[in-house]
Amino acid sequence: MIWNEYKAEIQEINLSTITTQNIKLCILREDLNHPEISGNKFRKLKYNLIEAKELGFKKILTFGGAFSNHIAATAAAGKLHGFETVGIIRGEELENKIDENSTLRFAKKCGMKFHFISREEYRQKDQPDFLEKLQKQFPDTYIIPEGGTNNLAIKGCKEILYDNCFNFDYIATAIGTGGTIAGVIESSQPHQTILGFPSLKGDFIVNDIRNLTEKENFTIFNQFHFGGYGKVNEELITFVNDFKRINQIQLDPIYTGKMVFGIMELIKNNYFEENSTILMIHTGGLQGIEGMNKLLKKKNKTLIE
Ligand SMILES: *Cc1c(COP(=O)(O)O)cnc(C)c1O
Repeated sequence: MIWNEYKAEIQEINLSTITTQNIKLCILREDLNHPEISGNKFRKLKYNLIEAKELGFKKILTFGGAFSNHIAATAAAGKLHGFETVGIIRGEELENKIDENSTLRFAKKCGMKFHFISREEYRQKDQPDFLEKLQKQFPDTYIIPEGGTNNLAIKGCKEILYDNCFNFDYIATAIGTGGTIAGVIESSQPHQTILGFPSLKGDFIVNDIRNLTEKENFTIFNQFHFGGYGKVNEELITFVNDFKRINQIQLDPIYTGKMVFGIMELIKNNYFEENSTILMIHTGGLQGIEGMNKLLKKKNKTLIE
């Protein structure tokens, strides 16, 4: 019912505050594809949940950290599609803080059951013997990896682009595990270059992407992660707030904020040839803002507006 085809609206971004070489910058509003399973997580879950249903599973199990968009999306999708959901959550200390954490609170309301594990144990999340142990502990569950990335997720992400997207020279997206960009690369056209902005530190991601797609029309920018996953600073928060004031579009500080910041820097530095057209994918993630603001407030920092 909710897995209908969705073609996100393309909106033009105001570039009047910077000098450009006649660049046209647009954003694809994937964040509006569903109110609760928003953004790329909707795309990544679609074929996984269809598969789980076809195979007769009643329960979905997956992994995530304290503010995980994937945990929130899985909990909501499970509720809508009649699956029980189990979240394996990184950090035992969170067990007593479910109601203080907006992501976990939301997931709990959707019916998700939690299983909290230490950071050390969490590191084994992709290892076969650990998964086997989980499968025994939670029998008859369909297991989706952290961030939701697997072949069925990539199949879903291929559906992000549609005819109006193929006129652009460049398509930009934020990167976590690389599943989303792999799907976008797969469905892109040969004349297009896909630009990826990892929100994590480290060069491993290029190899990860190469393992997920054979096409090579992509470029990764490793200088806009702001210190690593979940790390933000005053400059980034101010950027996200200014962007919203100018364009009436909310970005998240973990993924899309860093990607759009990166694109603006590249435009200012004349990375793009004259008259280039760029489409940025708004992959959603707005549910995480409440949790981030709580952290920022504790540290007496500027909040996301
Ligand atoms: C999860 C997420 C990403 C990263 O997607 P991957 O497929 O893991 O690379 C990007 N943007 C947002 C908003 C996300 O929630």
